[in-house]
Amino acid sequence: MIKLALLRPMEERDFVQITRQKTIPESDVVPMANWMFEEVWSKLLPMQILTENLSFSVKDNVITPPDAPVPDCMSCGACCAAFVYVSTAPGNDLADADCWKIVKNGRKRTITVDRLIRRRRSDKSCVALEGRLGEQVSCRIYNERPQMCRKFEAGSDRCHAVRRAYGFEPFLTLEEMSDAKAKLEQAGKQDRSNTIKRAIIDESDEENKFTISAELHDGSAYLIHSFDPRKETWFQSEIEGLTLEAAAQMIKNRS
Ligand code: SF4
Ligand code: SF4
Repeated sequence: MIKLALLRPMEERDFVQITRQKTIPESDVVPMANWMFEEVWSKLLPMQILTENLSFSVKDNVITPPDAPVPDCMSCGACCAAFVYVSTAPGNDLADADCWKIVKNGRKRTITVDRLIRRRRSDKSCVALEGRLGEQVSCRIYNERPQMCRKFEAGSDRCHAVRRAYGFEPFLTLEEMSDAKAKLEQAGKQDRSNTIKRAIIDESDEENKFTISAELHDGSAYLIHSFDPRKETWFQSEIEGLTLEAAAQMIKNRS
């Protein structure tokens, strides 16, 4: 009789092994990101408002007063230390040493479906962040920094929230919290149902043919593209958050 190995849950040492690798299987990414998120956020002040509900661009701010001063990134660095999932678009020429390639092992081929900026093993901050948090920081790859970093604006609701978590700004008062919650509830009525919640790249039965499907916030799902991975590269994270029309336009422009 063959003795079967018992499955055991992943432990910290598994993640440490994973983070040493240059290439990470897609199935390990979510548990690894959750583990890093826990490691970082368990040491910070409590989040008053879930950051996923907050805008990262000033023009979409809901809770920050329009006349609030915009913080100086050079003496902060909080977002670069706190957000553990920073993906880079295909074509972004970052050095391999700065990135993890996320791969999907198909039945016949293995392809890269995302590329994330590596995190430091010590404090899980971005490997490109230099200096001392809250004092003097800089981004070593500022001119080539990923789109996600460019889109994250100083002075946005999310920026202020993460600064509060690091103690770089005072907490919201009870009155400000209740005002913020009311405004967010109001803004939550905006319809996000036609934006893509999840993009999935899968191997098809045809030789050298992969597909991209998009699952929308309203639960519907669509096949939006088929491609030959020898000719095109697509990353799941660059499609997520777009409307179907915007995704179709991006695909048309690039393929
Ligand atoms: S949290 Fe805001 S101020 Fe701080 S580095 Fe990020 S964008 Fe700049
Ligand atoms: S690449 Fe630069 S801007 Fe982006 S998270 Fe890292 S240090 Fe911050």
